[in-house]
Amino acid sequence: HAKVNGRKQTCFYNPTMSRDLARRREIEAELRSAIQKNELSIFFQPIVDLATGRIRTFEALVRWFHPEKGELRPDEFIPVAEETGVIVTLGNWITAQAAKAAVQWPEDVTVAVNLSPLQIKAPGAALGIKNALREAGLAPERLELEVTESLLLDDNYATEAFIEDLSQIGVRFALDDFGTGYSSLGYIQKYPFKKIKVDRSFVSGPNVGKKTDAIIRAVAELGSKLEMDIVAEGLETIEQVRTVREAGCTLGQGYYFSRAVPDYLAAMLLAQEAGAEEPKRALG
Ligand code: C2E
Ligand code: MG
Ligand code: MG
Ligand code: MG
Repeated sequence: HAKVNGRKQTCFYNPTMSRDLARRREIEAELRSAIQKNELSIFFQPIVDLATGRIRTFEALVRWFHPEKGELRPDEFIPVAEETGVIVTLGNWITAQAAKAAVQWPEDVTVAVNLSPLQIKAPGAALGIKNALREAGLAPERLELEVTESLLLDDNYATEAFIEDLSQIGVRFALDDFGTGYSSLGYIQKYPFKKIKVDRSFVSGPNVGKKTDAIIRAVAELGSKLEMDIVAEGLETIEQVRTVREAGCTLGQGYYFSRAVPDYLAAMLLAQEAGAEEPKRALG
């Protein structure tokens, strides 16, 4: 499907196209009211310390439980939200919800929120984030904002000012899906990232092998020199956990540990962890 910064695709007419378009139109029409109707909710997926097995962060991932269409994934409606500009309202709502959940957690656990390019460029974008923090009473240091390379690709004054402004008050930034876009080292030099998230295509799937292993090692080495955490995304098996830990990644995320869960289950995972001497998750 079309993305704001996606690659151009040549396609010939086929009957599914008009169906896809019709579905997009429906999503577009319904998205505005979905928040008021309580159809959206935020799920949380743990990001785990690969040395200790403890949860360090929960990433907020939005879900839309549509009364007829069932569960919609963000990949389907976030691009529509971007095209229609609803992303600004939606993004502020997501950040507010994430911050409200995070104040309930132990102080050393952070929350990560994904940001869309258009959200950052909108006037008052940084203010929206600050309001969410203040209303929830969450310390800025406990919020991480995940941005992708495509966001930085057309970096301009607004993007720079946004990142600068929020970094100044203590909000942390993470570079998401690293390795899938242009992966310019210039971005790492220019922006104060605390974390790099290596895309899951380097961790599992058909491309994984000697080359991806070498790339992960190089990124992990860079991370340790620059005092950044390196997160391996998409860990599904214990073998993958061992491989990325051995390669030097400090944090891991994926179905091996947990899928994204509702806020009450996130809180329960943390409560269990606090009660246990050793986390239950086996790290091999
Ligand atoms: P992302 O930020 O890279 O988030 C990770 C995605 O990978 C999530 O999909 C997560 O459920 C999935 N994932 C995690 N572990 C595994 C695994 O072990 N195996 C596999 N196969 N998948 C795994 P999700 O929730 O469908 O989100 C997809 C993308 O949509 C996200 O990628 C992010 O770019 C975007 N997104 C999600 N929530 C938001 C949001 O609140 N705001 C914005 N702007 N974008 C969002
Ligand atoms: Mg993310
Ligand atoms: Mg990612
Ligand atoms: Mg992704």
